[in-house]
Amino acid sequence: MIITIDGPAGTGKSTVAQTVAERLHLDFLDTGAMYRAVGLEVLRRNANLDDPRELAFIAEHCRIEFDHSTRPPGVWLNDQSVGHLLRGKDATTAASFVAIVPAIREQLVRQQQEIGRKRPNLVTEGRDQGTVVFPGAALKFFLDATPQERARRRVAQLRARGEIVEYSEILRDIVARDERDRNRPIGPLKPSSDAEVIDTTAMTQSQVIEQIVGRARRYREAGQQA
Ligand code: C5P
Repeated sequence: MIITIDGPAGTGKSTVAQTVAERLHLDFLDTGAMYRAVGLEVLRRNANLDDPRELAFIAEHCRIEFDHSTRPPGVWLNDQSVGHLLRGKDATTAASFVAIVPAIREQLVRQQQEIGRKRPNLVTEGRDQGTVVFPGAALKFFLDATPQERARRRVAQLRARGEIVEYSEILRDIVARDERDRNRPIGPLKPSSDAEVIDTTAMTQSQVIEQIVGRARRYREAGQQA
């Protein structure tokens, strides 16, 4: 059973997808980590974010692997553990530039589909998992929330980590990132026509998790009776 969870930044997708995977005993794939890993390499090589050819060349030399023996799975880039480096502001911005480049998307989509073949019981989260990567997934969800609420959550998360951040700056970053994600021609951020859209603005994270786990359990039970 493959479950896709897509949506913009700040909807709690990562935690929700990870917890749903644990509760249902499924594997977990964070596809944003792959774009972030390429973003990290791009920063390390001081590449020009506006030069798609340079970005694609760098991506071709990125070997991204997941270590599924830990929860969440560890992320390795060219034999180096990088999971702890991927959430910084610069890697986040670089990832959304990397994600515009069609050749990079093709490379990562292929790799994600390969992971899906090897691990067919999977909760996968990103922007295009239900639309492009796993169009035949058993269950598809799209999490959304207003940009203001997403910015508020991101600020709380970063402040809890001790970072000094301004709400208005985070909101601006979120809106700019959404814009790049929604308007790219390949794999844009949008719900699949058969996805269940969940507006999380007024929901707690555990309510979102319960809604998805409940749907998945009903799906499994219906399958067993069939
Ligand atoms: O989900 P996360 O915030 O980690 O993703 C980082 C960036 O990677 C996003 O802003 C988006 O541009 C890109 N991404 C994507 N397609 C995915 C996952 C992430 O374009 N499936």
